[in-house]
Amino acid sequence: MSAERDQLICNARECFKKIEDTAWITCCSHIFCAQHGKEIKLRQATSPGCPACGSRFRNESDLVERKLNHSLQFRALLLCGYSPELVMEIANNAITFWNFQKHQVCSNLERKVEYYRETIATLKRKLTQEKGEAEGKILRLEQQLEQTKSRMAELNEAAASLTRDRRGELSRKDRCEKKHRTDDFLF
Ligand SMILES: [Zn+2]
Ligand SMILES: [Zn+2]
Repeated sequence: MSAERDQLICNARECFKKIEDTAWITCCSHIFCAQHGKEIKLRQATSPGCPACGSRFRNESDLVERKLNHSLQFRALLLCGYSPELVMEIANNAITFWNFQKHQVCSNLERKVEYYRETIATLKRKLTQEKGEAEGKILRLEQQLEQTKSRMAELNEAAASLTRDRRGELSRKDRCEKKHRTDDFLF
């Protein structure tokens, strides 16, 4: 497992910063980055609670600052002097804390995945509905276009027919006039 995957993430809302050298740890199993931990500590006088779950801090040890960059030897020395049972209990508590944090990360990711799935499903439904509406509009417009074309063809045909009739009439009138002129000349 890489060191990258082993880091915990600040539990402050919208922070998601990876915990580096300094961590602020609460009695309710939450962890905060250096910046948010200091802010929570400063707010203790007016708002003594965990911003992640609302648990109230009653003792100094309910919110503690921890340095995570100590050497392995130093960390091992911290446990020296305790009975094996106590060392095991401390280790068990630390592992439970770690697992709780990882479980939270998984739950958050699952919620995000579910949220994006629902968003995609909603968008798909909306797109399908809009596609149906657009196809309906296209169909109606195509029908209107065909009707307009058909009407235009009828009007063109009527106009051509009128022109032909008019020309025929003029031609007949012209022939009649010529005939009259010839008759006048003969008499
Ligand atoms: Zn933070
Ligand atoms: Zn908490």
